[in-house]
Amino acid sequence: MSAVQVLTPEPKEAADRAKREAMEVAEAARETEWKHPSFAAELFAGRFRPDLVLPFPAQSDEDRRRGDEYLARLEVFLKENVDADEIDRTGEVPPRAIQGLVDLGCFGMKIPKEYGGLGFSQTNYNRAMQLIGSHCGSTAVWVSAHQSIGVPQPLKLFGTEEQKRKYLPRLAQGEISAFALTEPDVGSDPANMQTTAEPTPDGSAYVLNGEKLWCTNGCVADVIVVMARTPSVVVKGKERKQITAFIVEKTMPGFEVAHRCEFLGLRAIQNGLLRFKNVLVPKENIIWGPGQGLKLALITLNTGRLTVPAACTGMAKQCVRIVRRWASERAQWGGPIGKHDAVAGKIAEIAAGAFAMDAVTWLTSGLADRGGQDIRLEAAMAKLFCSETAWKIADDTLQIRGGRGYETARSLSARGEPGIAVERMLRDARINRIIEGTSEIMRLFIAREALDWHLRVAGRLLDPKTPAGAKVKAGLKALGTYARWYPAQWLYWPGGHSALGRLAPHFRYIEKASHRLARAIFHLMAVHQAGLEKRQRVLARVVEIGVDLFAAAAACAYAHHLRDSSPAELADLFSTIARRRIQANFRALWSNDDRASYRAARDVLDGKHTWIEKGVLLP
Ligand SMILES: Cc1cc2nc3c(=O)[nH]c(=O)nc-3n(C[C@H](O)[C@H](O)[C@H](O)COP(=O)(O)OP(=O)(O)OC[C@H]3O[C@@H](n4cnc5c(N)ncnc54)[C@H](O)[C@@H]3O)c2cc1C
Repeated sequence: MSAVQVLTPEPKEAADRAKREAMEVAEAARETEWKHPSFAAELFAGRFRPDLVLPFPAQSDEDRRRGDEYLARLEVFLKENVDADEIDRTGEVPPRAIQGLVDLGCFGMKIPKEYGGLGFSQTNYNRAMQLIGSHCGSTAVWVSAHQSIGVPQPLKLFGTEEQKRKYLPRLAQGEISAFALTEPDVGSDPANMQTTAEPTPDGSAYVLNGEKLWCTNGCVADVIVVMARTPSVVVKGKERKQITAFIVEKTMPGFEVAHRCEFLGLRAIQNGLLRFKNVLVPKENIIWGPGQGLKLALITLNTGRLTVPAACTGMAKQCVRIVRRWASERAQWGGPIGKHDAVAGKIAEIAAGAFAMDAVTWLTSGLADRGGQDIRLEAAMAKLFCSETAWKIADDTLQIRGGRGYETARSLSARGEPGIAVERMLRDARINRIIEGTSEIMRLFIAREALDWHLRVAGRLLDPKTPAGAKVKAGLKALGTYARWYPAQWLYWPGGHSALGRLAPHFRYIEKASHRLARAIFHLMAVHQAGLEKRQRVLARVVEIGVDLFAAAAACAYAHHLRDSSPAELADLFSTIARRRIQANFRALWSNDDRASYRAARDVLDGKHTWIEKGVLLP
């Protein structure tokens, strides 16, 4: 199954070719080698593995102490030097605030100590990102784009010792970096990349030409990792497109910041359209080798994605604080608004959601620090879950604040009320559902990985291009595997999970639902066969069930680790709410309006309903 399915009225042949190319590029860039299994992948295959999340991968005491000491200093600095509302209003993070963060080592948190950074664990880095994200979205993005996806991350993973020695100390000490993948015609689908890098005749360098769009930190970056197309190679008689990653310095002639972009939120990020005109890049600036660029970008995003959940959780926790105070003090219709059932329901969901986000963030961070485990799925699920939940929480918080939620902090302060910036938080939160993989693409990515086990068992059988003889052979092989696997999805000995105390019933539910999910995937594949890849909304429900099971498991495991009754109450509430969604999604796998609404969408695209656009002012 490909990670790409489009709904655009292109000529069929061209669309098929573009899709096939996109598929091949995406498939070639997948990571496939891991030592330990993924908890989430096992869930989809009907194998609930509590041992992969219990004991909870917590920080060591020493690592925690290091983080505590740093966070205390960072908090004081943010309070005294980073005025989030002023930054939002002016669209600038003041240079002295950036310099102060550099002096605190904030831009080198993820850079190893031997290269002049702080060498933080993923957990301590994310704790700092949560703190910054809770205070100022724009500042958080400056710091995060630099080292979650900017040059330090791919260099750490794939750079040569020489490259690390050359760049990492500079990047720890104040040079800013960025990550440039997106182009005007290349968003979710990198196969279509237009930026090119042609080798010079003597092979000592590459000549870079093209444009990169929405590059965060790009307007101020000293060093940028740029993905570009290098000449294709022929593998087994077939042309294979090559994408290569280059380190580009702003001082290289031909590099230009063509435009600084302005957005709904994150108004002080330095995000721009970058232009490369015959930029000569030495071949020593290639990271990981020619043709490895897309894989590098996707692997960088796999771990880079762990930061979005932390920043979102920081914002969600602010929301808990805001609604707790406001819904107690604001009285309407004879009592505090928090006592009215409709508002109480929102408050409970905000608190439970924030706790689950916290659990998911620390679980994925802890798994990353423990190492050796395939956490691509967990990272993608964490990004999807936390960005979507943060948006819902920000929206509900605004609703609870009523008119004040819609008013800017500056205006509130000017008329003598506390300047609580919920509208800014809402604006800032929206982008998380788009950057580093949109929610739709995350669902496709998760679905691809979720189905991986089945595709390995029955992929050749489902592939219409498999010759008849090979199909029979593949069918017999799949039959043998499924003959053992399928009955085990019905007949299994459930665990008691009694160590979880009051949360044990949720673990029992997750185990049962994991078997049900695995059976559902099998049934869906049997019914839709190769056509399942086109049923994106069916796949999205499969993914949403998996994400809710994962988040509930994280919440219960984290509450168990915290050994306190209050987290257990929130884990219990979150799991109960998630179970309701899971049940609804199971039902909708088979009973939905997907086909009818797909037809309606085609009609809209074909112009059949243009009459609905009448009566409005046309631009
Ligand atoms: C503030 C901001 C910061 C950014 N920072 C960076 C950065 O630092 N570096 C960088 O390289 N890029 C960056 N980006 C780009 C960002 O990653 C892209 O916006 C994102 O990948 C989506 O691409 P797109 O906007 O072109 O949307 P498109 O790919 O055009 O998608 C449009 C819509 O169609 C959906 N869609 C697309 N394909 C499919 C499909 N196959 N199936 C179902 N739905 C689909 C998408 O989910 C989306 O809803 C940034 C963007 C913004 C706005």
